[in-house]
Amino acid sequence: MTNALNEDYFPTVIVGAGCAGLTLAHELIGSKNFPCLLVDPQETRPEHAFSFWDDGHPNLALARSLAKKSWSKWEIKTFDRTVVKTSRSFSYSTVSSSSYEQHLTRNINTNNGIILKTKVTKLHKNDDKHKIETSSGKSFYTNNVFDSRPAQPSAKTLFQHFLGWEVSTVAPTFDDTMVTLMDFRVPQKEGFHFMYVLPYSKTSALIESTVYSDKILSSEWYENQITQYLKNFLRCTTYEIIYKEQGAIPLNKKDDVIPFGMPIGLNAGALRTSTGYAFSEIIHQVSSLAKQLKDEKEIGAVGPGYTKLENWMDKVLLDVLSLNPDLAPHIFSTILNTLKGDEFVRFMIGGCPLAIKLKIIRALPKPSFIGAALRSVSP
Ligand SMILES: Cc1cc2nc3c(=O)[nH]c(=O)nc-3n(C[C@H](O)[C@H](O)[C@H](O)COP(=O)(O)OP(=O)(O)OC[C@H]3O[C@@H](n4cnc5c(N)ncnc54)[C@H](O)[C@@H]3O)c2cc1C
Repeated sequence: MTNALNEDYFPTVIVGAGCAGLTLAHELIGSKNFPCLLVDPQETRPEHAFSFWDDGHPNLALARSLAKKSWSKWEIKTFDRTVVKTSRSFSYSTVSSSSYEQHLTRNINTNNGIILKTKVTKLHKNDDKHKIETSSGKSFYTNNVFDSRPAQPSAKTLFQHFLGWEVSTVAPTFDDTMVTLMDFRVPQKEGFHFMYVLPYSKTSALIESTVYSDKILSSEWYENQITQYLKNFLRCTTYEIIYKEQGAIPLNKKDDVIPFGMPIGLNAGALRTSTGYAFSEIIHQVSSLAKQLKDEKEIGAVGPGYTKLENWMDKVLLDVLSLNPDLAPHIFSTILNTLKGDEFVRFMIGGCPLAIKLKIIRALPKPSFIGAALRSVSP
């Protein structure tokens, strides 16, 4: 292992070469904090969609340029109603994780950054120098360490778990102008469950069966749900499965683990716990960090991304939904119905005006939420 400065020294070491680690290293290219060493034991990264609400922010320019498709119309469906909203100012976009991560990896490698396939095992701090130990037996020295290892979920953690198929159909099957954020017309026995449909064209879409519960289900379970959904609601029995994606996102906030350096990404609370979205927040988080590093500012801890009130509202919402999963169709369709298209996106992005949050609070069923709100503040 060599680098331009000294065999074992890197200006920046990043623990984890996932979305946050790669994005941070990419942002630092050309600065004196580069070359970065990224350390990650994962040999291959599974392909999946990174979907995000796009408000036109310059930090999202790269993701926007690599996006597979964007939409400005979306819906939530229940057995009782279909709520459709549109926006002129915002869009919902999706980029493939492999095209995003491969783009970053290529640029990092071309600029002499190094991604080492091993595990960080220990960090020693000595004044302003850090020593990073890895399971390969090799140690590295640096002035800046960032840690993106996600926290380990605890026993009763609530997960957003899902399996998706990208399908190609012969007959036109999808309305490719509109994303189905949630279609609740599916069995609700295993926690609250919905179908998420990203229509790439009239004949291709990602269809994901998504459940919120503490029990991850067998692949066959989600696959059976998608098959039934295609047949019963999209009237489609002839299709080819192009690829599958699967995941389980723990919706807890970080456990108390001792960080190796400054936490970033999910490890720094970038996840919006009520929705499972983190991608755009990770990009904003590490872009701001990279700017501080380049400006040689004293770096403060990375913020959680969402306001205290939003985090509290998410906690209360998840508490209500864990106890009453059957309320989910009503709650989510009511939130979308109550807000204008732009207001809904501003709420989803985070940091929205209080007036939008009050609109939501006023529209939701009071008894369940008052109980959960009281539980959230009781010791
Ligand atoms: C399948 C899936 C789909 C998702 N889709 C979306 C989406 O559409 N939109 C959205 O906003 N969010 C989405 N998310 C949530 C979130 O955006 C992603 O989880 C994102 O990858 C988090 O980035 P991260 O860098 O914080 O963590 P990760 O990408 O998980 O990276 C952390 C890395 O740390 C490494 N690591 C762990 N231990 C060590 C160690 N000891 N030493 C070195 N490295 C270590 C791991 O191998 C891992 O690669 C999705 C998540 C999943 C799992």
